[in-house]
Amino acid sequence: MLRTGLWGIYTRSEWKAFFRPPQPDGMVELGSEAHEKYREAGEILATVREEAAERVTVGATQLEVAEFAEERVRELGGGLAFPVNISVDEEASHATPARDDTTEFGEEMVCLDIGVHVDGYIADAAVTVDLTDTPELVEASEEALEAALDAVEPGVHTGEIGREIGETIDAHGYNPIVNLTGHGLDQYDAHTAPNVPNRPVETGVELEPGDVLAIEPFATDGRGKVGEGSKTDIYEVVGDARVRDRTARSVLEEAEEFDGLPFAERWLDTKRAQMGLRRLEMSNVVRSYPVLKEEAGTLVSQAEHTLIVTEDGCEVTTR
Ligand code: MN
Ligand code: MN
Repeated sequence: MLRTGLWGIYTRSEWKAFFRPPQPDGMVELGSEAHEKYREAGEILATVREEAAERVTVGATQLEVAEFAEERVRELGGGLAFPVNISVDEEASHATPARDDTTEFGEEMVCLDIGVHVDGYIADAAVTVDLTDTPELVEASEEALEAALDAVEPGVHTGEIGREIGETIDAHGYNPIVNLTGHGLDQYDAHTAPNVPNRPVETGVELEPGDVLAIEPFATDGRGKVGEGSKTDIYEVVGDARVRDRTARSVLEEAEEFDGLPFAERWLDTKRAQMGLRRLEMSNVVRSYPVLKEEAGTLVSQAEHTLIVTEDGCEVTTR
């Protein structure tokens, strides 16, 4: 496409081609340095997930588990792709302990969702710790995940993966949560195309070697659809604006250190950070991620792995 080495005579599209990244969104060149970094992130995550899950016991606090996991990720040389999510019972996602949170685990269904990155290359995986003695609900999401991973190979349609997930959860007598999906991953981007549905759908894409995906079935005895709760502890910088308010400006300066990845309110040192965040949200500089939950009194389990599509199947980075 670049016909000449002379500066200044390229067309607009030629310039674009020149600056286009070597791989399209959500893809990695197999065998590259980036591929190796995805593996490193996955290994760190697998270690921390196991150690953190052991600490989820009745009477332990959510905050100590979250802080333990986040500290371990850093100790092992990783960065946090998002705050450790600890979602209990009807909560499905986007819950993380608040600053000075003293909530203890009770006899609850606990989804532990962890995101690690190495130079921005992300591993995203989750496990459910059942303190309620409802093992079938955990099996439903875990088996759905295994069925999905077995189905992954080049040419497979994401809707087909959704069918595997939906049918496996149905067969256990539970509902898949249909308005939560798996997703692509890219450098410093924890959620990109394509979506991987938790039910059969017509729309979707065929997988290709090099696709980086997180697949995450959720099973529930609820209706299979989450809504937004009132609690919010996770945020992300999404825009840029001149901010006059001092608290908001200080929060924004801190938040910009997180490389555009989601962060927790408790990570900020600014006094009255909550107020600064509210101001930034109103100016569309920051977005919030409210807790996503099923109806009260229901339970949700989640299983998640990150994988890279290979020439003949997939490599799970977070085993
Ligand atoms: Mn996750
Ligand atoms: Mn995910």
